[in-house]
Amino acid sequence: MKQKSWISIVFAFAAQCRGKIVLSVLCAMVSVACGLVPYWSVYRVITLFISGAPVLAEVWRWCWIGVGAYALRFLFYGISTSLSHISAYTILENIRLALAQRLMQAPLGTVTSEPVGKLKNVLVDRVETIELPLAHMIPECISNFLLPVAVFGYLVCIDWRMALAMLVTLPFVLMAFALMMKDFNRLYGEYMASSNYVNGVIVEYVEGIEVIKAFNQSSSSYEKFTRAACAFKDDTLRWYQSSWKVMNFIAAVLPSTFLGTLPIGMALYRNGSLTPQDLAMCLILSLGIVGPLMNFTTYINEAKAIEYAVCDVDRLLQVAPLPDAAQPVALISKTIQLEDVSFSYHKEGGKQVLSHINLMIPEGKFTALVGPSGGGKSTIARLIARFWDVNEGRITIGGVDIRKMPMSQLADIVSFVTQDNFLFNCSLKENIRLGNPGATDEAVYAAAKAACCDEFIQQLAAGYDTMAGDAGNRLSGGEKQRISIARMMLKNAPIVILDEATAFTDQENEEKIQQSIAALTKGKTLLVIAHRLSTIKNADQIIVLEDGKVEAIGSHQRLLEDDALYRGMWEAHTRAQHWSAGSGKGGH
Ligand code: ADP
Repeated sequence: MKQKSWISIVFAFAAQCRGKIVLSVLCAMVSVACGLVPYWSVYRVITLFISGAPVLAEVWRWCWIGVGAYALRFLFYGISTSLSHISAYTILENIRLALAQRLMQAPLGTVTSEPVGKLKNVLVDRVETIELPLAHMIPECISNFLLPVAVFGYLVCIDWRMALAMLVTLPFVLMAFALMMKDFNRLYGEYMASSNYVNGVIVEYVEGIEVIKAFNQSSSSYEKFTRAACAFKDDTLRWYQSSWKVMNFIAAVLPSTFLGTLPIGMALYRNGSLTPQDLAMCLILSLGIVGPLMNFTTYINEAKAIEYAVCDVDRLLQVAPLPDAAQPVALISKTIQLEDVSFSYHKEGGKQVLSHINLMIPEGKFTALVGPSGGGKSTIARLIARFWDVNEGRITIGGVDIRKMPMSQLADIVSFVTQDNFLFNCSLKENIRLGNPGATDEAVYAAAKAACCDEFIQQLAAGYDTMAGDAGNRLSGGEKQRISIARMMLKNAPIVILDEATAFTDQENEEKIQQSIAALTKGKTLLVIAHRLSTIKNADQIIVLEDGKVEAIGSHQRLLEDDALYRGMWEAHTRAQHWSAGSGKGGH
């Protein structure tokens, strides 16, 4: 695919603020033009004096014109930057909304497998870096470019030789620029890669600080951190050193318009082809464009920073969305069927996580998925919830391929609770209510009771109104899980998938939760993935999965008799239970 230019990507987000951008550029041009008027005033005053009999009122008039124009310059600059900042923030808003929307449409699995630090970096930091340069570059770049062009045109009208004299330094600048750009892209790329790496290491260091301390790894982790910081410093300096000499050279030479205009102007004046007034005017104007030209040099780096940020954004926007159906479909049952399903997380050459799976998870029944870790149990659960699409075969609910039903319909009929229980930073009551936004407070409390949350929530100072962020550190993993289960119970969807949903819960609470899950999921399609086999031994059917293949299907009793793998797992589980019960007694 052809790489889009960053300018076209930015302007694609600027549709609703085009008028403001144009006005901002116009104001910036007026501002720059007003900035030249004082020079014109000085020229007029000089002319008055050269002519020999300056009238004081006339001198004052030009002074006031100069001062007035100077004030107008800042007025228009203010209007221009206000408009350009509004436009830049509108563009930023559009970019962020587009990113958020794309993340919603992308396969959930793709989004969740991205490191949080990376997503945050793009959505917050990289997008933010665009604002300042964008706000200033839009108007200033154009006006700062047009001004020297206009001055050049004006000088051509006065004397074309003076116009060319103003450009005497340009060839040197262009040569230096070409020299700098030779390695600029590569070194800037290295600098950006290094910056991303150091960001990642910082996030990892902060997020993992608990583990680092617990395992006394502070020296080795700190070493990685220091190495990344040092490498970042080296790459930054290398990039900086590659450009600063040339940049300084350009900054010094580019505005040195006097180098050409002064000697050539003097020569032309001496041979009588330039009046003293015109000489003064040319010199003054060539001095007036120094500022705008100087500004130009700073845009080189800023343009590069925007380019990198915009390309990062675009890369995320290119994530293919999951195809979504428009019309809800009528489902005759809530039986889930996997038909010859194969799946690999990495399309090209990745390990086949599931191969040719055929399964039926009947409506109104309790099905359990068990098997050694890494066998593909969670993958099956995620595929049913359509975190990803299967590579081969199909998954149906009530005979309809889940790819043929709208994502919102699937989300409505499936409740999915995993081990990672995310609580939003709102009150615990609202966190539970997310399961069914229309639920009454009473329904929320009833769900919380059923999920054994009520007791510990009541103990918090603000009870159900405690903010999850405030409570977050005080809630154990099991407590957070129970809140997710309450949320699931409130949702009351016809299909319930629990992926190790009670893994962190202590045995006493787990039994209670199991009982209420059993009561509340009566008549529903229930799929449970559980490590503790005692919690699923009453399942209507147990599916044993190993290495992405179905090893056996049956009831607890039948599997104990017929399947060696299940028997082995059961024995290991009961041994572990005895052991923990024994060590529990011995410990007190
Ligand atoms: P189980 O739930 O039985 O422990 P999983 O379904 O979690 O097994 O994992 C099955 C295989 O898929 C494992 O080899 C695991 O490493 C791999 N896997 C799981 N999640 C991902 C992912 N997001 N990206 C790549 N590979 C994954």
